[in-house]
Amino acid sequence: MHETKAIKEMLGVIRQVQGEHAGRTLASVCVELSEFGGWDEEHFREHFQEAVRGTPWQAARLDIKKVMMGPEAKLVRVTFEEDARGED
Ligand SMILES: [Zn+2]
Repeated sequence: MHETKAIKEMLGVIRQVQGEHAGRTLASVCVELSEFGGWDEEHFREHFQEAVRGTPWQAARLDIKKVMMGPEAKLVRVTFEEDARGED
């Protein structure tokens, strides 16, 4: 496997954030990808779906934003099903 280290690290962060939210259901994950990095959106999405397949996170929505600056791939936001008020 190649670029999945970035995704593994993100899943680690998601797991930690979810722990802090008492295991609430993950609704969406927002990731920024650098325009100048090695990922294109489809490719990242493919790896992410593969990484979460069979986990409680597989139904979560993946939002991808392309940015000019920043690291190749960066987790910027995680939301949970009960976050009706937009609280993090
Ligand atoms: Zn790949």
